[in-house]
Amino acid sequence: MASETDRSKGFYHQTLETMSSDERNQYLSKELQKIVSHAFRNAPAIQKKFASAGLKPQDVRTVKDLEKLPITHKHELASLQKKDPPFGGFLGVPMERLKRICMSPGPIYEPEDTESKNDRWTQAFFAAGFRRGDIGQVTFSYHLVPPAFWFEDALHRLGCIATPGGVGNTEQQVKMMHDLGVTGYIGTPSFLMAVAKKAQEFHYHPQKDLCLKVGFVSGEMLPESLRSELEETFGMIVRQGYGTADVGCMGYECFHKNGMHFPYNCIVEIVDPETGKQLGPGETGEIVTTVFDEVYPMIRFGTGDLSYYTDEPCPCGRTTGRLVKILGRLDQVTKVKGMFIHPGNVDNVAAKFDEIEDCQVVVTREGHVDQMTLKVILAKGILPSNDLAKRIESAIPESMRVRGKVEFIDRGTLPEKFSKIDDRRKWE
Ligand SMILES: [Zn+2]
Repeated sequence: MASETDRSKGFYHQTLETMSSDERNQYLSKELQKIVSHAFRNAPAIQKKFASAGLKPQDVRTVKDLEKLPITHKHELASLQKKDPPFGGFLGVPMERLKRICMSPGPIYEPEDTESKNDRWTQAFFAAGFRRGDIGQVTFSYHLVPPAFWFEDALHRLGCIATPGGVGNTEQQVKMMHDLGVTGYIGTPSFLMAVAKKAQEFHYHPQKDLCLKVGFVSGEMLPESLRSELEETFGMIVRQGYGTADVGCMGYECFHKNGMHFPYNCIVEIVDPETGKQLGPGETGEIVTTVFDEVYPMIRFGTGDLSYYTDEPCPCGRTTGRLVKILGRLDQVTKVKGMFIHPGNVDNVAAKFDEIEDCQVVVTREGHVDQMTLKVILAKGILPSNDLAKRIESAIPESMRVRGKVEFIDRGTLPEKFSKIDDRRKWE
């Protein structure tokens, strides 16, 4: 691997990743029509889904048309599979065509070939900075669950070599990285941290004795502070991706790390959890995905994760929208003045002010109108002031799209562990 390799530029599929928005709409509509017709013919669960909405395949021709269909939620899959084993009626090809069947907690079984999902992960790996000749250590589990297999295949598609580290065995893994000159890391951020600690025990200098240049992390939150620590320790690029075992990749960061690009070959909607309607840029809702995967054609698959997206241009040249941030799980949301508020939104406000140590949203109801108060615990040495309260109040709608009042409180007035949203509304 040449040391001057440019990991910041380029594409895996330039034409498809850089289409204009009209071209993209046409492309997605065409792919959607193909997968809808395939799934309707081959997967009984998809037939049922259309029938329940009184629809025929020709009624769903564009991304917007997807709104007519009900969402199949991740939490329903285990029981759907139990009723109609082994795949709940979602298998879209004869069993012989499968290459692998994985099992995730639930249990949920995932039938796979090696096409649709792995192509999307390969886009993610290229965008993260993996290049031909890299040796990538895969530290996800090789037992039961699918990710390690996807990621090995993505490495192979890019002309890279995989070292199958699997989970744990930190000592041997660090030795392997050192002895083989491993340049790429694939795993959780926390295991990469464990690698750094173990390297120190071996008296390895993380940059001189190890050769890590690029990392793809997933499966855990990646706070910016942790990312910079990892990047500085190893002198490497660390980028993240988002996906689930059922549908695979739904987003990945490019060099500019300003959100996770949608892969070009799937449809990601952000959906109002109450109405099932699509939301626009900046609006928080559930991540719902349709994949062009003939084997397991999930159409409107609800992840239960909350996010919002942007369609602002990205300096990398990719023209797909980007998930800005995964805010958490749908079951943690509260609706205030018609808007969904999530603990992640509350943390976003706090993150904008060095003066804030912690905060909590309290929702009450006065005269049939929701009231939102942000209770703020100030950092040490900061005194409450009207000016500060005003500045925080003007930042609240940026993160929550709802106005609220600020109230300063002492640390001691809240328990050690408190929920970020305290909903005190009574509905009698
Ligand atoms: Zn980009």
